[in-house]
Amino acid sequence: MRKGIFNRKTNAVRAVDGVSFTVAKGETLGIVGESGCGKSTTARLLVGLEGIDAGDLIFDGDRLGVDLSLKDLWDGVQMVFQDSYASLNPRLTIEETIAFGPKMRGVAADEARRLAHELLGRVGLAPARFAGRYPHELSGGQRQRVNIARSLAMKPRLIILDEAVSALDKSVEAQVLNLLRELKDEFGLTYVFISHDLNVVRYVSDRIMVMYLGEVVEIGPVAAVWEKRAHPYTAALFAAMPSMDPDNRTEVPPLAGDPPNPIDPPSGCRFHTRCSFAEPVCGKTRPKSVAVDGAADHDAACHMLDPISGHSKSAGGSRL
Ligand code: SF4
Ligand code: MG
Repeated sequence: MRKGIFNRKTNAVRAVDGVSFTVAKGETLGIVGESGCGKSTTARLLVGLEGIDAGDLIFDGDRLGVDLSLKDLWDGVQMVFQDSYASLNPRLTIEETIAFGPKMRGVAADEARRLAHELLGRVGLAPARFAGRYPHELSGGQRQRVNIARSLAMKPRLIILDEAVSALDKSVEAQVLNLLRELKDEFGLTYVFISHDLNVVRYVSDRIMVMYLGEVVEIGPVAAVWEKRAHPYTAALFAAMPSMDPDNRTEVPPLAGDPPNPIDPPSGCRFHTRCSFAEPVCGKTRPKSVAVDGAADHDAACHMLDPISGHSKSAGGSRL
């Protein structure tokens, strides 16, 4: 059932520390947090682009470095980045761009070309018009469709989308998001969807993982995380998002200041320097992840949620 398990201790700059999560086959896991929270590092670790100090990466039941090589991992995982132009070779036509990966894997030129045309059509770019063009002849939205087609050509099981729609206009963004949703069902894909835009993540994700300074502070089904906002950071992040949604409660104070330097994170709970509910224990002891309202699939790491330490009932009562 489980697609991947990811568990890392720290790297040199502590960009990600003790992060552990699973992505179920066929789901979209959204990762949110401010810039510098470790979202992109987590994505890079997932595809083996960052060094691994401790922990395991398990993909479809196989452990990286044990029964899974980096090459095998790369066969199953693709990434789509924010900068659609930088991701494309300016000297290759769109057809050549999409056919390149399959050809590298030994697919015959004719077949790779046929696949490129088929996928171009599938992402909404008529092959007759677009196959021979170069990246600079396309709009940002068209280039991102090419990046998606190029990923699909590698027949991935997991696609990591790192701010993949963030550079697009809102109307184009909506079209690409809808395309991604259709492709997920059609190709049986699993997504890890990274964005600073909570509205977008809420729209596409089945579950949300909230990161702060390289740690996971809350993870759970979208509806539960949205409704409960159990971790004070989640509550502040959601309260700060621009929204037309009348359900977006605003009584939580918005986040003050910038996140501390991840190279030297605060002791205890890393959020304690910005948390309105911090108590002395928060600066001393790192909170454990606990089930929110006993739910098996919803966890948050905050002392005041921990029934064992029984901490700070007043904060819990006044917060929402
Ligand atoms: Fe705030 Fe303390 Fe909870 Fe951290 S552990 S989020 S500082 S109340
Ligand atoms: Mg990033």
